Amino acid sequence: MSEAMVADRASEAAHGATQHVDVAVVGAGFAGLYLVHRLRKAGFSVVAMDEADDVGGTWYWNRYPGARCDIQTIDYSYTFDPELERAWTWSEKYATQPEILRYLGFVADRYDLRRDIRFGTKVTSATWDDATERWLLATSNGADVSCRHYIMATGCLSAPKPPEIEGVKDFKGGIYFTSRWPHQGVDLRGKRVAVIGTGSSGIQSIPLFAEQASHLTVFQRTPNFALPAHNGPPPSDRAALLAQDRAAFREQGRWSMTGVPLPPATEFSFQLSDAERRERFEKLWATGDLVGMLTQLWADQGNDVEANALLAELFREKIRSIVKDPETAEALSPTDHPFGSKRPCLDTNYYATFNRPNVTLVNLRKEPITAITASGITTDKRSVDVDVIVFATGFDAMTGAVKAIHPITGRGGKSLSDVWADGPHTYLGLTVSGFPNLFLITGPGSPSVLSNMSVSIEQHVDFVVDRLTALREAGFTTMEATATAQAGWARHMADCAPLTLHRLANTWYTGANVPGKPQGVMPYNGGVGPYRSICNEIVSQGMLGFRLTGPSVGAQCNDGEIVRLQPDVRLVLGMLAQMNLPPIESMGAQGARDFVTEFNKSRPAGRPVGEVKDGTLPVADGQLPYRLYRPATPGPHAIVVYFHGGGWVLGDELSDDPFCRDLCRRTGMILVSVGYRHAPEHRFPTAAEDGFAATRWIADHAIELGGKPGPVMVAGWSAGANIAAVTCQLARDRGGPEIAGQLLVCPVTDCRFDRPSYADNASGYFLTRSLMFWFWDIYCSPADRTDPRASPLRGQLAGLPPAYVVTCEFDPLRDEGIAYAEAMQAAGVPVEQLKARGHFHSSFVMVDVVITSADGRGQMANALRRFAGLPQSPGQDNQQSDRTNFNAAAS
Ligand SMILES: Cc1cc2nc3c(=O)[nH]c(=O)nc-3n(C[C@H](O)[C@H](O)[C@H](O)COP(=O)(O)OP(=O)(O)OC[C@H]3O[C@@H](n4cnc5c(N)ncnc54)[C@H](O)[C@@H]3O)c2cc1C
Repeated sequence: MSEAMVADRASEAAHGATQHVDVAVVGAGFAGLYLVHRLRKAGFSVVAMDEADDVGGTWYWNRYPGARCDIQTIDYSYTFDPELERAWTWSEKYATQPEILRYLGFVADRYDLRRDIRFGTKVTSATWDDATERWLLATSNGADVSCRHYIMATGCLSAPKPPEIEGVKDFKGGIYFTSRWPHQGVDLRGKRVAVIGTGSSGIQSIPLFAEQASHLTVFQRTPNFALPAHNGPPPSDRAALLAQDRAAFREQGRWSMTGVPLPPATEFSFQLSDAERRERFEKLWATGDLVGMLTQLWADQGNDVEANALLAELFREKIRSIVKDPETAEALSPTDHPFGSKRPCLDTNYYATFNRPNVTLVNLRKEPITAITASGITTDKRSVDVDVIVFATGFDAMTGAVKAIHPITGRGGKSLSDVWADGPHTYLGLTVSGFPNLFLITGPGSPSVLSNMSVSIEQHVDFVVDRLTALREAGFTTMEATATAQAGWARHMADCAPLTLHRLANTWYTGANVPGKPQGVMPYNGGVGPYRSICNEIVSQGMLGFRLTGPSVGAQCNDGEIVRLQPDVRLVLGMLAQMNLPPIESMGAQGARDFVTEFNKSRPAGRPVGEVKDGTLPVADGQLPYRLYRPATPGPHAIVVYFHGGGWVLGDELSDDPFCRDLCRRTGMILVSVGYRHAPEHRFPTAAEDGFAATRWIADHAIELGGKPGPVMVAGWSAGANIAAVTCQLARDRGGPEIAGQLLVCPVTDCRFDRPSYADNASGYFLTRSLMFWFWDIYCSPADRTDPRASPLRGQLAGLPPAYVVTCEFDPLRDEGIAYAEAMQAAGVPVEQLKARGHFHSSFVMVDVVITSADGRGQMANALRRFAGLPQSPGQDNQQSDRTNFNAAAS
């Protein structure tokens, strides 16, 4: 932009005439600065506005003593320009606020960004005009702004939460907010100081306040997990990695789950001994690596309450070892939320500060604040006179700064506050249906605060600016998320919930810190890399979920939902696709068996059960191996005879080991997994007859096996479910054994291939149509296929035991499973169905990989318990069980 244009713009702004630009940006923090740079480079005219008097955002406002980042600065930096990276060197592992602010100032100078930023300017409202297809922004200072595109880079943590306590106005001393700390600092020497709040800002500042204050009283409602930062120079190993291959290091960060290039843990808590777990914990405690502590201890620490409890207890042990007064140590020990479900903090001497004689902790859980008076703070047990009160009470996170601009009026006069009255609704956290050309950077529904935000910000900004550029090139003037896409994103967000434990804590992630705020996990917890790939997929699918319009090009809308698979199923299928495996059917039977054996070696081991015992059982012409899983609880137990999957060709009694263990644990029953014989060596009807014979033998020998005498249950997956179904028919027709119920998971029930699921899911979901053809060809001649022992759907169905039939949306076998369930029901058999949305054929057997299938496995376990006449296990509803287990682990 020429100097003259700059001068014109400044003059326009100063004289109150509306300023016209292509794009208006609100905010001049990490996001606003990069936006101005990218938009300008892309040839858009742009103005940014910030209430602050300079750049920096978070790092402009949060100047309290001890303020630092908690993602290592080697990662918490811009990565868009290698030259910039070479030009700046961080002095510390976790830089202080002044250094980060200097860095952002350095960036602003380097790219000459300030000339397009209006400081000291608050945007107060925004209105979309359908006729002109422009936004009009009202400002607190100078000209209003008319823009084609309105980008809110207003920050997730930029709207401080007002104090909720009566009497603040009466207090005669000094009141300060960590989030609005005076630029000139505050001299606390010799003062009696109170700090309210022990989130990240409190934990960072309290040790420094204690060094100055004559007495410091810390008012704590919720204790937090804090890890010593062990600050110092940037760690040499990571600096070396960056220096060695900057581009690869950055790329790894972009595709990681958190935005930090660290390989996640692969071993599960139950695979490690106590000593091994402790060793890992001590190592990370000693290095002060927060992201490491969040992701690298054991693979299930972030999604399994019991695995997480092991870690939480190690933290509490540390607190007890540092804090001398047991009552204070206990009050500082978090027990009400899993580690990581609330943002853990990095500290320097935080816990040790409570050993100082001039520091007192007031536990607000035991003695709530009743008032702030002229002289101090009163709880229901005491009055504390102080000279200064510091509020470290955090932010109205994610939505606060967006809703503070009010109204934001979209299409049809709708206000964003009304549309979000019950919580934020977005597509990708970036756009809102009904609000064309409005973009949110790190909005609710994006990875934002669950990630290294510098990486997320760059990705969001790149996505938005690239889209605006493409739009302009194609002649479109508006872009708006569709209602379908937005609803689909909400569903996907809900599907992601079980992937982490964030839902189990009342935090600012969920809106619980602000009275009256609608509750729900606001950031996207499906991971930074997956989110990036979803955004890329939207583009490759012709802007899926967006309606684009332009005066000369008309309208274009490829409507739909971007993610219909469960999030972890999407990851698994993506990984399988990347492996570029040859089709299993091209490997030959033995080759395919070898492949499955190798493949299974890389999966997480099954969870421990009371006992695992191998044996053999006789059938008419030989012996079959079996593996028995016994629960840890005292017996005798009900027995489930289990048949593995593998298309009658692959697998053995061990191949569904994690699933059998899981069912054993969940049901409290013995699982006997039978190694029935396979084709092509033993073609139809061997597998079916083996299944029946094995079930009869197991029922006859229930007591010897440690089980309860009486009816058994049968269960199976895929071809194993076919055998289980056939076994029920044969048992009915051949005089026993008595079967109390059948659990059929993705069963093969018929030899017809013309049901829609065969066409819909013919390829791309691991079990393909051609693989099913191959299995059938190997197992059974065409003439035999209509035999009910191969196609149980063609048999007599009346009089069968009650059934629980599980089918998966993205499975060629889906419709024949449903057909079998419906046909049994029509024949009078009590049937329940679980139609698993977003799942694929292998979802339920991939225990600890497809975490979203845990809920379904819980329901299966309850079905088996119903068959056995046992009481329901309430904990099998996964969401509820997490809460129950968490409370049990914490108490
Ligand atoms: C103490 C603290 C430590 C943090 N540490 C880390 C960390 O280690 N790693 C990490 O990833 N993240 C961290 N964060 C999160 C941090 O907010 C982001 O990393 C990042 O700085 C956000 O940049 P932003 O540009 O999106 O928003 P911000 O930096 O918040 O900037 C938003 C700007 O918008 C302005 N604004 C808002 N509304 C208006 C309006 N109506 N009119 C005009 N201006 C407006 C605000 O004044 C503000 O300057 C931390 C946050 C805090 C508070």
